[in-house]
Amino acid sequence: MVVTAAALAHAEDLADFVAASPSSYHAAAEVARRLEDAGFTRLSEEDAWPEQTGGRFVVVRDGAVIAWVVPTDATATTPAHIFGAHTDSPGFKLKPKPTTGSRGWLQAGVEVYGGPLLNSWLDRELRLAGRLALADGRVVLADTGALLRLPQLAVHLDREANSGLALDKQLHTQPVWGIGDPTDEDLLGELAASAGVSAADVRGFDAVVADSARGAVFGKDDAFFAAGRLDDLASVHAGVVALTDRSLSLSKGSGSIAVLAAFDHEELGSASRSGAAGPFLEDILSRAYGGLGADATEQRRAFATSWHLSSDVGHSVHPNYPHKHDPVVQPLLGSGPILKINANQRYATDAVGAAAWANWCEAADVSSQEFVSNNAVPCGSTIGPITATRLGIRTVDIGIPILSMHSARELAGVSDLHDLARVAEAFFAG
Ligand code: ZN
Repeated sequence: MVVTAAALAHAEDLADFVAASPSSYHAAAEVARRLEDAGFTRLSEEDAWPEQTGGRFVVVRDGAVIAWVVPTDATATTPAHIFGAHTDSPGFKLKPKPTTGSRGWLQAGVEVYGGPLLNSWLDRELRLAGRLALADGRVVLADTGALLRLPQLAVHLDREANSGLALDKQLHTQPVWGIGDPTDEDLLGELAASAGVSAADVRGFDAVVADSARGAVFGKDDAFFAAGRLDDLASVHAGVVALTDRSLSLSKGSGSIAVLAAFDHEELGSASRSGAAGPFLEDILSRAYGGLGADATEQRRAFATSWHLSSDVGHSVHPNYPHKHDPVVQPLLGSGPILKINANQRYATDAVGAAAWANWCEAADVSSQEFVSNNAVPCGSTIGPITATRLGIRTVDIGIPILSMHSARELAGVSDLHDLARVAEAFFAG
């Protein structure tokens, strides 16, 4: 297998992006920071917006972010090419009154967020990160760095550990973060201090536990990349790279409005203000098209020729569990991004979308694979069917194949990560 220097550089940049994005709030901020560095203008939803034509803009709403590039020749009916992804990952979220402990240990009260593989979170150095809402109305990001750990019970004390490890979601998931008396200590104080603010000023918090280890390239021919939160930061990152690389030429005229939409709360079903089932994307598109002078009919005409490329991770065939996969369609790490297909609309891909995907891959000179589930092992879903249902925009569900989905540290193919960004570029280019 040949992994190019460009693909290795892309993986290193993804490692930086994942390290900077322990929570969805950090991920949205990091996307905005990268795009502002590339010349995008940060807009706020409460303000009036400037002239759209020829502009490049980014808006953050809580843990979600949408960025778009309006070509100079855009009209009221120019289609949007939307690359969609999600910023959140399964894991644990801090509970109210989070400073707990037992038998001399300090522990953190946490709630399970989404569907993590619980066992994969054991025996790792973990960060506490998220946002703090302060008494003066400010909202600041906070990140303790490595602070916590979920220690597994030694095999000597659990002789059944290798034949059937069972973790209780409450009893066995409260991480340790020090030695001391919980009545004298304050975990929120640690989090506040990491943000340079006083614990007394914190009026609210959304904080998650995240793996603190940096992503790494390894394996024969440097084929593998492992990191936390590849679901779905690998897609968010590919979209940012594509929008950044192409944005200058796009704004000079490409025939479509390039949009990156990274939503929060996908792991919970997307129903929130910043999730794909909420109004965020429609709000942004309505205002962008309104800025181009579009009336309601013209906006619907634009939607009728628009596309949403919904990108999320999918399952590579697992060599130790091949029977869990379709007997014929078996995507493999390193053989390209995947087109996701499901008869029950768990993925939004249809024949027309499959053909468009093939064209974008051809334009990018990238080979692709297909994913479909074994009938006895139904697949999950993603944001694609949700936004398609909301907006009526044609949607194709795609992604990269990975192993260890929802593990604290997932496994991807280096070349697939880079290929996804290249197809995203071709998609944005029209
Ligand atoms: Zn996902």
